[in-house]
Amino acid sequence: VILKPDAVQRALIGEIIARYERLGLKLVGLKMMVPSADQIEQHYTLDPQWRRVTGEKTIASYKSRGLTPPSEDPLEITAKILKNLKGYMTAGPVIAMVWEGAHAVELVRKITGGTEPRGAAVGTIRGDFVVDSYIMADTDNRAVRNLIHGSGSVEEANMEIPHWFSEKELINYRVSREDVM
Ligand code: GDP
Ligand code: MG
Repeated sequence: VILKPDAVQRALIGEIIARYERLGLKLVGLKMMVPSADQIEQHYTLDPQWRRVTGEKTIASYKSRGLTPPSEDPLEITAKILKNLKGYMTAGPVIAMVWEGAHAVELVRKITGGTEPRGAAVGTIRGDFVVDSYIMADTDNRAVRNLIHGSGSVEEANMEIPHWFSEKELINYRVSREDVM
């Protein structure tokens, strides 16, 4: 999980961490940093399919609202998204975290909510705390301010964790509830 610069600026760090903590996941890594543009580009392209899939998703999202997408070429769309993400994610400090637990990736995604805050379900972090949409972001020529990055799959998490953390920055420890429950 990465708390993006808007989460830090809006003083939502504690609020968001509390959501994952109260779910019952265990925090095993945490750090604050201002990422470089290269670090962000590598992060989003660890999955070689990301450019194509995200571009196709954007085209579908425009069409489902009866709008004309900015381009019919998924890679052209993703190039712009990536440029905006690099600007957004390097604009200030972020908090990178690793949460451990059964179904951790799936449950983090569930309580984080959908990528576009406008459509994110009520009760999710993005749904409860953000007013933003692809249309607003595209109009302002910036990334969607959706507070959080969460790994999309276990495979993605397995690539992202070593991208952000060294082995010794991940802490192997027990909490008492693991013995009791
Ligand atoms: P996530 O895993 O829910 O964060 O979403 P993705 O991995 O699909 O996308 C990563 C980031 O790219 C998102 O957090 C958005 O900032 C941006 N993004 C993804 N899809 C779109 C889109 O359709 N339009 C725009 N403008 N930005 C997008
Ligand atoms: Mg993703």
